[in-house]
Amino acid sequence: MTSETSPTEVVYEVVDVADVPLDVWLVAQRTLRWCEGDLGLSDLRIEWLRTVPAIRAASTVSMANLLTTLARMAGESFPEPQAFRSRPIAGQVGWFFNDGCLRVRCDQSLEEVVRTVAHEAKHVADSRIYRPPRLPAEWQVAEDRARAYEERVWAQLADTLQVKTR
Ligand SMILES: [Zn+2]
Repeated sequence: MTSETSPTEVVYEVVDVADVPLDVWLVAQRTLRWCEGDLGLSDLRIEWLRTVPAIRAASTVSMANLLTTLARMAGESFPEPQAFRSRPIAGQVGWFFNDGCLRVRCDQSLEEVVRTVAHEAKHVADSRIYRPPRLPAEWQVAEDRARAYEERVWAQLADTLQVKTR
């Protein structure tokens, strides 16, 4: 494994809610509550991600890996990395897939935030009804369903949230 970041990869870090712009946070909370009601869930929460500038990407990942190793040595079974390399993403389901944690990038437009929250919420809902996807074909179905849901939520909430389209 190389320490360089390949051009197709980005480093994301988990950020404190205090570092999330207020308009982003508000729109995400409203979307989250709406989706919970719609999907019949009550325990969703958001963990915020931010893109790490290339200049400190390598050091941020090294530090996060070190902290994860230390946490494991201290007895934590599955310490969640606080920074990681990934293909470009808008968000993802949390480390434990169906524990209700949605990871959402705070450095994107309000429309993208609404769509990301809805998309990841649908993944959690589906994985609880069935199970997290494993096979490529299952990922495709899950992805299609999440995209369709994202469209539906955006159509439903865009006016209410008074979010300008991207
Ligand atoms: Zn997805």
